[in-house]
Amino acid sequence: MAGTTEALPAGIRAIDTHTAGMTQVTAGYLIEAPRPALIECGPALSVDNVISALRELGMDPDDLAYLVLSHIHLDHAGGAGDVAAAFPNAHVVVSEVGARHLVDPEKLNASSRRVYGELMDTVYGDCTPVEQPRVLGVGDGDVLDLGGGRRLDLLYTPGHAKHHISAFDRDSGSLFVGDSVGVKMPGMRVIRPATPPPDFDLVLAQRTLTRYRGLAPARVYLAHYGPVDPADEALAEASERLAAWFETAEAAWREHSELDHIAETLAYRFADDVVPDPDDPDAERRVRLLSGFESNAAGLMRYLDLRAEGRVTAAEDR
Ligand SMILES: [Zn+2]
Repeated sequence: MAGTTEALPAGIRAIDTHTAGMTQVTAGYLIEAPRPALIECGPALSVDNVISALRELGMDPDDLAYLVLSHIHLDHAGGAGDVAAAFPNAHVVVSEVGARHLVDPEKLNASSRRVYGELMDTVYGDCTPVEQPRVLGVGDGDVLDLGGGRRLDLLYTPGHAKHHISAFDRDSGSLFVGDSVGVKMPGMRVIRPATPPPDFDLVLAQRTLTRYRGLAPARVYLAHYGPVDPADEALAEASERLAAWFETAEAAWREHSELDHIAETLAYRFADDVVPDPDDPDAERRVRLLSGFESNAAGLMRYLDLRAEGRVTAAEDR
């Protein structure tokens, strides 16, 4: 089944990856240009939907120039090897910090299996490797020339993960933020932060949000899922929500540094951010899969523990 596509302003198309057989879980974004770029491809188990959607949009095997991955969590990058095989001219653009895991995903797959358990077999699948010469490890300030005067500025945006990058289409003001702003899927009233282990870092995450606000983007595109409007208010909301989640987790952690206690405290305070549409059969499953309290609690707890041990610093000036 081809993922459904939606035309957005400025020659951008959203491609629904139909991750886990549900709509509006993970989006890919195609930037139309002489050298087109796809931003995110979703997990391996649903990547055929993305490849079929690209074909339906008229992309021949030689046409795709870039696959840009915001980071190498499997719900974003797992299908990269399959996209690279289907589009043999495409370079896979990823943070230089995470690039080697795409060439040799054995460790990535093993650690993902520990985190996701049986979801590896039902939702994600193993990340398929990309040949070394096809991987473009990038850093802050690198630029992709898409031709016809269109460029994508790449920003190093750690916080959610230490290998996170974002892409900014400066001419149209479109900012593709992966997971660094958070998650807002159908039924969610507000943006929820995405704070999973092992990398989540509060100071870096807030610094990334502050940097986005300085760019004054016209539109912000989340991977999970779609544009959030207006962009400036969404970025302010993301920052406030992250601070509130952190404060709540920290207060619970001071009582008992235990995962269940922190997760339950977060659930008690933030359950009503989600008001599922009773007619949407996937509403709760979607949120549980991509924005569960346990995963966010585990990342916040790990950060709090590391900070208490002096292994990360809360200082702003690092
Ligand atoms: Zn992620």
